[in-house]
Amino acid sequence: MDFEFTEEHKLIRKTARQFGEEMIKPVAHDHDESCKYPHDIVEKAKKLDLIAPSIPEKYGGAGMDFLSGVIVIEELFRADPGIASAITARIFGCDMILDFGTEEQRKKYLVPVAKGDWVMGSAITEPEAGSDVASLKTRAERKGKNFVINGNKIFITNGSIANFLIVFARTDTNPPERHGGITAFIVEKDRPGFSARPMKNKMGIRASDLAELSFDNVTVPEENIIGQEGSAFYHLMQFFARGRTAVAAQAVGIAQGAFDEALKYSQERKQFNRPICDLQAIQFKLADMATDIEAARLLVYKAAYLVGKGGNPGREASMAKLFASRVAREVANEALQIHGGYGFFKDYPVERFYRDAKITELYEGTSEIQRLIIARSVLGKIPV
Ligand SMILES: Cc1cc2nc3c(=O)[nH]c(=O)nc-3n(C[C@H](O)[C@H](O)[C@H](O)COP(=O)(O)OP(=O)(O)OC[C@H]3O[C@@H](n4cnc5c(N)ncnc54)[C@H](O)[C@@H]3O)c2cc1C
Repeated sequence: MDFEFTEEHKLIRKTARQFGEEMIKPVAHDHDESCKYPHDIVEKAKKLDLIAPSIPEKYGGAGMDFLSGVIVIEELFRADPGIASAITARIFGCDMILDFGTEEQRKKYLVPVAKGDWVMGSAITEPEAGSDVASLKTRAERKGKNFVINGNKIFITNGSIANFLIVFARTDTNPPERHGGITAFIVEKDRPGFSARPMKNKMGIRASDLAELSFDNVTVPEENIIGQEGSAFYHLMQFFARGRTAVAAQAVGIAQGAFDEALKYSQERKQFNRPICDLQAIQFKLADMATDIEAARLLVYKAAYLVGKGGNPGREASMAKLFASRVAREVANEALQIHGGYGFFKDYPVERFYRDAKITELYEGTSEIQRLIIARSVLGKIPV
């Protein structure tokens, strides 16, 4: 593989790691307990270009490459996945505006998000439409130069704090193709008829915001359409690789964070008059964990490298996400095992990593969906 780390990559890694150590780790437990969104930490992250590393400077970002963004995600999730997801998901869906939005939309909506002043989100999932995006029912009916939106969304990251959301709605109830007839709209939070209900009691990433949304005759002008009317599903497919590589990077960060805790604990904890890291059973666990993390990391960097070259490497991104999310779950489990009974308590960060790891197997397409994509690709059924 041909990617290499530049001085810029090394610097952004150092910056993100230090930020994680100094600003995130000390307050991670409190934010997990209280489910409090880390507004104050976001303000500090803004100053260090950690909100939108790879959005072009012209649109308010730091103008770095895609790999730099992946490195930031990895390092922040290594510190704490809950606070990290609150910080890194503030721009969730920005690719839609970047790739398919008008210049006016980019200036009006993307710039304040990339600068960290605004938050955005993407509302695709519905109570009856999860993995099967094409079955979504939220309706947007044309009324002259406006559209009137009715329907419900669930599990929407930043749903109750976002300044605006990209809402995927059906504009054609009888499209010629199953995946057609869906359009993406920018919906600002103060549109009459829009409401958000925070979803409490998440198992993990508890410092990030999640909400259910309702649209009751929400009217938006036609200039709020992103891209082509009826083509939102196809637009989405064009940058799924970026989102999946980003989640795979989250998983690598989580696995590394859990490993760090296990390594430290194994050197401190004594049983049978010696540190438990002297026991071969523990050494073998550490060796397997370190090897799995390295393999996952390489898959992530490969996908990031291909994205950086301008591609949409669907197969590589799905492989990276499938593998890295499993590694995150398994490494977090082994890290907890190394802590023995103490790992079962919230006093140790490993308990949080264990809960947080699970989400990487669920969002941006479940592991089953990644397997479907990989299988179709190896069978030559899709051109990825
Ligand atoms: C914390 C969190 C944040 C989220 N953020 C967002 C967000 O910001 N925006 C958004 O739109 N959505 C978001 N989601 C939703 C997420 O993307 C969906 O939960 C996910 O796509 C799965 O959909 P579902 O939950 O309806 O499960 P289902 O699709 O009902 O799947 C249930 C089970 O069936 C399996 N399954 C389904 N179809 C197939 C198939 N064809 N072959 C094999 N197995 C299959 C799945 O893998 C899973 O195991 C979020 C979810 C969570 C939990």
